[in-house]
Amino acid sequence: MAQLERNAVVTQKVEVAPGLFIMRIAPVGWQLPPFKPGQFAVLGLPASAPRHPLCDLEEPPDQADAVIRRSYTIASSSREGEYFEVYLTVVRSGSLSPRLAMLEVGERLWLGPKVSGLFTFDEVPKTVDLVMIATGTGLAPYMSMLRSTLDEPDDRRLAVVHGARHSWDLGYRGELLTMERLRPKLTYLPVVSRPTEEPVPWTGEVGYVQDMWRRRVLDARWGHRPGPADTRVFLCGHPGMIDAMVKILEGDGFREHTRLVPGQIHYEKYW
Ligand SMILES: Cc1cc2nc3c(=O)[nH]c(=O)nc-3n(C[C@H](O)[C@H](O)[C@H](O)COP(=O)(O)OP(=O)(O)OC[C@H]3O[C@@H](n4cnc5c(N)ncnc54)[C@H](O)[C@@H]3O)c2cc1C
Repeated sequence: MAQLERNAVVTQKVEVAPGLFIMRIAPVGWQLPPFKPGQFAVLGLPASAPRHPLCDLEEPPDQADAVIRRSYTIASSSREGEYFEVYLTVVRSGSLSPRLAMLEVGERLWLGPKVSGLFTFDEVPKTVDLVMIATGTGLAPYMSMLRSTLDEPDDRRLAVVHGARHSWDLGYRGELLTMERLRPKLTYLPVVSRPTEEPVPWTGEVGYVQDMWRRRVLDARWGHRPGPADTRVFLCGHPGMIDAMVKILEGDGFREHTRLVPGQIHYEKYW
């Protein structure tokens, strides 16, 4: 098999929590393609690259130069041409994420020259409110969307609902709190599912993101019940959360959006 061209370099690596990273990746000697917030790029490393020591052991690969590639949503602004930022969680039993986690600033990897994905905000009229719900690293597309449009006039209500196990797993929390102050119509609702493990009592929302919807927490913040006539809902991350949310939303009259049949629910399952 042909050698993998390591055509990109890590320019920043921030460990948000154990096994949770924000990484910036810049192309070496070529230009990043334009992209729309919500789209993803493909990262790759050879099977011979080292794995994180805390991850599960793996059978030795048949071919050391076999290439492992996976998709990662771009979290950076679409106006940023220097690097792609990704928000990455390490799957202990996984193939690529334990290897990506070993990369340090200055180390090389493969970055696909194309971006793809239909989980964008393109087909959403500017007149409807937007609820963006994520678990874990499913926050990435919303960071890109908010960062890309920060200085654009926007009169609709926006909500980011982010679920994680612990408060320390809530990546981008500081940036989102700052955005919330700058953007009066943005509501940021972090939710933790294991509040008893917090070192300082967690005074925010607890449970899963779907519990928040059922408890009508956003309705109280917005002063009305978001409904299909005036709201689009985006769901990203854990497939279990997405299935549960789609069911709940359908009960509230929302329908899945497809290119052929417009609806109000958009989603991206990470696996
Ligand atoms: C369109 C798209 C965008 C994605 N964007 C991101 C992103 O921005 N950040 C990110 O961390 N991952 C993202 N993923 C998931 C990513 O592509 C990989 O699947 C993930 O990093 C695991 O790869 P792996 O080779 O280590 O594990 P694999 O050997 O591929 O094992 C996959 C298994 O790991 C589990 N898994 C996969 N992703 C996750 C996850 N995020 N959290 C917990 N368990 C998981 C599932 O059980 C899955 O069956 C995205 C996936 C898709 C399809």
